[in-house]
Amino acid sequence: MKVLDLQCDQGHVFEGWFASEDDYQAQRQSGLLTCPLCGAPDVDKLPSAPRLNLGSGSAPAGQGGPSGGPSGGPEGAALPAMQAALLKAMRRLMRETEDVGARFAEEARRIHYGETRERPIRGRASPEETHALLEEGIPVISLPLPPGFDGELQ
Ligand SMILES: [Zn+2]
Repeated sequence: MKVLDLQCDQGHVFEGWFASEDDYQAQRQSGLLTCPLCGAPDVDKLPSAPRLNLGSGSAPAGQGGPSGGPSGGPEGAALPAMQAALLKAMRRLMRETEDVGARFAEEARRIHYGETRERPIRGRASPEETHALLEEGIPVISLPLPPGFDGELQ
């Protein structure tokens, strides 16, 4: 079985499944091969066939045209959207918490035992410190920060 990336003269990109390359050529020559989207009989194989579902929008050859395609790529947009949401949440967290840096474990302990005023804090703690805090019943959350936040945490 051979999977080929095909494109009609309207710019629609779609997949064609063939028994072999010869099968593709035969179907194409006998006019059996048509675009499933618009029915155009003029279907060509894309020069390269990368197995990446990037959607037709980023096809290097002859853009999809004004009609666009059905594959606008919501999958492709999902990841950046998620990252943006995550960054937004992180920034809010940064705004609403006080950075106590390396004193995090000490400060968390003092808040827990009522030695200082209660407030949301953030900072750096080693895994051992975090573990010790949890053992004492002090709620802490470890967040893996994206690389861009390193500077803000210092
Ligand atoms: Zn078409």
